[in-house]
Amino acid sequence: MKIALIAHDRKKDDLVQFAVAYSDILAQHDLYATGTTGARIQEATGLAIKCFRSGPLGGDQQIGAMIANNDMDMVFFFRDPLTAQPHEPDVTALVRLCDVYHIPLATNMGTAEILLKGLQEGLVDWRLIAERRQ
Ligand code: PGA
Repeated sequence: MKIALIAHDRKKDDLVQFAVAYSDILAQHDLYATGTTGARIQEATGLAIKCFRSGPLGGDQQIGAMIANNDMDMVFFFRDPLTAQPHEPDVTALVRLCDVYHIPLATNMGTAEILLKGLQEGLVDWRLIAERRQ
């Protein structure tokens, strides 16, 4: 599975904590991230992560392009709902693309736990993912 990890600045600690707690599961997958988020998670976990540009510099759009190419399976995007982002249009576009392509998307820790545990238990429908890839 290809998994994207993104967190706004005030949510980065949450996502790092999450990645540390679930690093054994995450390690079984291909990980992608926006630049700063990816660097923080790599530093904390030692996981191999393909880091794109920083979000405000186009990283969200790079991950969006993977989604549009049916090349991303799951997105963890810890958004900061209380702070205006300079790249809000990119944020909206990424969330929209997840909905267009039926990509499981967690925007907070609560959903992220359910999603990752579901993945671990094999509850994600692999056939649908395979079909999407065709
Ligand atoms: P960053 O980008 O990981 O480079 O900080 C995340 C974002 O703000 O979209």
